[in-house]
Amino acid sequence: MSRISAATDGQAEPADGFDLLSGPKLMSHLNSSSRCTATSKRTGKQCGQRVPGGGVCGWHGGSARQVRRQREARLAAAEAVAMFSDQYVPRDPGEALAAAAVNADQVLRSLQQRVERSGELRAHDLDALRTWMELVSRLSKAVLDAGVDERRVRIAEQQGAQVAAAIRAILSDLGHSLSDRRVLQVVSTRLRELQA
Ligand SMILES: [Zn+2]
Repeated sequence: MSRISAATDGQAEPADGFDLLSGPKLMSHLNSSSRCTATSKRTGKQCGQRVPGGGVCGWHGGSARQVRRQREARLAAAEAVAMFSDQYVPRDPGEALAAAAVNADQVLRSLQQRVERSGELRAHDLDALRTWMELVSRLSKAVLDAGVDERRVRIAEQQGAQVAAAIRAILSDLGHSLSDRRVLQVVSTRLRELQA
């Protein structure tokens, strides 16, 4: 299991516009030591100060709350990848998208519930609600656009057809046929039991 490397080498790529949702970028971020992306007005050269998590160094605005939080989020994601990427089983993009939409919606509803319970809406609650609502809307739209549900139905239908073909083959191997009324009745009854 690999851990995040703290090594510093001169060939680091600046972590520009790092996107948490983008896997390849996440990996390249993980594999490179990040340097401050700010450029010195005086020399025109990149600052290059090492910044674990990427972005800009403290001198160049890296300690601002929003910047710091984004950096910490990147580090958390990179650490999670380092810890669990060897357990990663590729999944269908539609499945990943649907899961992301569901997870985001769970967070959103938890936030809504917390606000309802506390009976007050503070500024940061409002910010969080807005952020997650936007994310849920975006992901849900993507799921609908991708026709994920439709595809699931198609897959289920394909599997159904395969099962039907297998049943027919088994019956025929055993010398039976679905045109036999009694055989058909037994198969129908057993299949209905599955659905119940
Ligand atoms: Zn800097």
